[in-house]
Amino acid sequence: MDLIECTMDAPTHTRSPSRLPPVTRVQMDDYVPPKIACAWLGKPVVSVAQFDTASLECVATWSRALLSYSRATNKLTTTTYHHATAPLLPCCSELFAVSSFLKAAVEANTVPPLMRGKMLANVFYEASTRTMCSFAAAAQRLGGGVLPVSASSSSVKKGETLQDTMRCLECYADVLVLRHPVKGSAAIAAKYCENPVLNAGDGAGEHPTQALLDCYTIFSELGHLSGVTITMVGDLKYGRTVHSLSRLAALYGGVKLQLVSPAALALPQYVLDQIEACKCADLEITISETLSDEILAATDILYVTRIQKERFPSPEAAAPFLNAFIISPETLGKMKESARVMHPLPRVGEILEACDADPRAAYFRQMRNGMFVRMALLALATAEADTKSACM
Ligand code: ASP
Repeated sequence: MDLIECTMDAPTHTRSPSRLPPVTRVQMDDYVPPKIACAWLGKPVVSVAQFDTASLECVATWSRALLSYSRATNKLTTTTYHHATAPLLPCCSELFAVSSFLKAAVEANTVPPLMRGKMLANVFYEASTRTMCSFAAAAQRLGGGVLPVSASSSSVKKGETLQDTMRCLECYADVLVLRHPVKGSAAIAAKYCENPVLNAGDGAGEHPTQALLDCYTIFSELGHLSGVTITMVGDLKYGRTVHSLSRLAALYGGVKLQLVSPAALALPQYVLDQIEACKCADLEITISETLSDEILAATDILYVTRIQKERFPSPEAAAPFLNAFIISPETLGKMKESARVMHPLPRVGEILEACDADPRAAYFRQMRNGMFVRMALLALATAEADTKSACM
C-alpha cells in the first residue's frame, strides 16, 4: 500500500510559507469519482474521466427547467421549453445551453437566484485569479454566499489534514471548490465529503471546469466541436488544463489534436493512454517540437499555455523553456481567418499584447465564459431536492 505525502508533487521552491494541508495516510487510488452518466446534480467534479458526450448533452431537463424559470414564484418548472432567451447551439451540450442562458440573464440583469440560501466554500491553497474569482462571482450572482478559505487563514497552519478541513467546511457550505498543489487531492476531498466537491485544479493533474469552459468557448466561437483541429502549444507536461481539455475534446468526432512542445514537456504518456481509452474512433493526434507554418495553417483553435515553472524541480530547470513559443501578429498571419487563439491565462509573455486587437484573440472572451459555465455547474450542484428529482 503506497502512502503519499502532501509534498509529492509540490516543488519546494515555490511552496507557500504556510503549511499545506497534509493528505497522508490516504491511498490515492482507492477513490474513483462517480460517472456523471447524465445526472450532474449533487455529484463531485474531480476529473474529465467522469464525462461523456451524453452527459454533456443530457442535462436537457435541467436546461428546460432553467429556460422556463418563473421569476414570479422563484420556482423551476419543467412544463415548457422554449429557445427564445438562449437559442441552443447546434449539436452542443445542454450544459452549455444552461451557460448561455445564464450569460443572457447576466447581461439582462435577470439572473434567477438559484443559489439563494446556499453557500459555497471556495478553498484555494494555490494562487488563482480567474478560477477563484469566477466561482465567487458565480455563486454571488446566483444569490448564494461564499466562504473564502486559504491555507494561511485556516487550521491547515495547525497541521489539520485536508480531509478534516473539507469535512469541517461542508458543515457550513453546500458545495466546495478546491484548488490544491497535490495531484489527486480533489479526489481525496470528494471521497470524504458528502456535498459536491468541484476540482479547481489539483497540481499538475486536472482542471475539469476549465476544460468545460474551454469547450464552451469553442462552441461559442465556432458553433461546433466535432471536426475541429486544436493545436496545443507550450508546457503540455505540467499544464493541467491541457490534460483535461485533450481528454474532453477526444470525446468528439473528427477532432484532430496537434501537440506542440519541447520534447521534455510533451503530453505525458498516461494522458495519451487515457485519451486512447476514451477517444472517439476517428481522433487524430500529431506530435511536434516546432510550431510550423503547416501546423498553423491547419489550426482552428490555437490553445497556448504558459510554462508552469512552479511545477519544475527548480527554477533553473524551467529557465531554458521560458520563451519556447511566443505568439505574435506574425504567427496569426499564418493562421486561417476563422481560427481562434485561446489561453487559460495568466499569460507571461507567450502571447504578445499586439495580438489582443485581432478578432481571433478569444482569450478574454474565454475568461468571461468561465463565470457562466461555473454558474451552471454551481446551479446544478446545489439544486433543491425537488428540482433534483425533476431533473434526474
Ligand atoms: N490558470 C490555469 C491553471 O490554473 C493555467 C495556468 O496557471 O497556467 O492551471
